Amino acid sequence: MDYGLIGKIEKAKRYAEERERIRFESFRARFDGENNSHTVEFSGGEWICDCDFFITRGVCSHSMALERILAEMISTPAEIA
Ligand SMILES: [Zn+2]
Repeated sequence: MDYGLIGKIEKAKRYAEERERIRFESFRARFDGENNSHTVEFSGGEWICDCDFFITRGVCSHSMALERILAEMISTPAEIA
């Protein structure tokens, strides 16, 4: 038995319930939309999506969906600065 690892697994289970501990600062995701797949990136508190709607509006269903999923786990620009 690796008691050190068992302790870490228990801690990981507890951490996984405490989402407020985690702030994503950057990531890239593939988003399978209804028509096409899109690449959505988050960096420096800003969203970027390669869909046409985002290019003209600066926001889109893909970025807003990820914002809802990750909710309080997204860093704001002030937190990163
Ligand atoms: Zn998009």
